[in-house]
Amino acid sequence: MKKLKRTALMLITGIIAISLGAGAMAQNYDIKVQIDGILHNSGGVIDFGEYKPLQIDSRTYVHTRTFAENAGMKVGWDQDNQTAFIKVIADKNSDKPIEVYAAEQFDALGDNGFGTPSSITVSMMIDNSEAVFRYNYDIGEGHIRGLGKTFEMDGAATLIDDSALMVPLRNLMEILGLNVEWSQEQMTAYVSIPYEVKVQDNLEETDRWVPERYYAGFTPPNYIPDGVHEIGEYLGTFKLTKYCPCNICNGGWGNNTAWAGKIIPGQTIGVNLKDGIPKLAWLYIDGIGWRRAEDTGGGIGYHHIDVAVSSHYEATHGNIVYRDVWLAK
Ligand SMILES: [Zn+2]
Repeated sequence: MKKLKRTALMLITGIIAISLGAGAMAQNYDIKVQIDGILHNSGGVIDFGEYKPLQIDSRTYVHTRTFAENAGMKVGWDQDNQTAFIKVIADKNSDKPIEVYAAEQFDALGDNGFGTPSSITVSMMIDNSEAVFRYNYDIGEGHIRGLGKTFEMDGAATLIDDSALMVPLRNLMEILGLNVEWSQEQMTAYVSIPYEVKVQDNLEETDRWVPERYYAGFTPPNYIPDGVHEIGEYLGTFKLTKYCPCNICNGGWGNNTAWAGKIIPGQTIGVNLKDGIPKLAWLYIDGIGWRRAEDTGGGIGYHHIDVAVSSHYEATHGNIVYRDVWLAK
């Protein structure tokens, strides 16, 4: 897990849902996805290998790469943006029905003078429920002009095992203009190309092809301290400085905190109560992790947190940084 969209709450509930879902899935369900007439004229049940479809909140999620490759779509990963993208080439003369269908979508849009129809892309970012859809037109010299829109999916694209991006199947199919029918009896999703070409409306010219991040650079927690259940209110961006339990850092206070016992490097932070942070509250600091408001000090101003570290060297080296901070519930 690397990034997060709305609040960490979403992320944490997501993780729980998936771990429960995956556990339950192995025992109770065997969700199948059958694609008919998409890659070839015949169909077939996709072999998802180790990343089986999951049901989360009664929605079917599929492994993006396995689905896309089985459906004759290109798939890529944009590391910087933590975004998976699916590309369908538009080619009237292709032997892949999906590529012919993409060309038919461009035809249905009509001649808008944009350029030569090239491909359809859908981009989905980890822990983000926004999908960016684009019709891409080739305008020569390797340049693309995009006509697109964003979709809010029913759930966020979700990473499992640090490598497999799972996306809501129904949303993805609707975005691509494909049909999807669910059979509860068969526990199977049937995906096909509709008889009538479906094109997206309300399109706008756009350069943008990846979702926007809600909080740039957020790194979600990899553990939750005892007694903390969820990340709560976003407190804003704070200036972070460091101190250690030594006399130089603490003056007459020695290594005692204001409200707890001794300073615990890796746990203790000094805060300003005027920031609305309750005494002994747990906070989540982006890039730092969970810390507890056990201390305060005259030198700590508004939106400033002093982070306890173990050595005086560490306390006095490195830069002052600014990070997003959340209060734990
Ligand atoms: Zn020190």
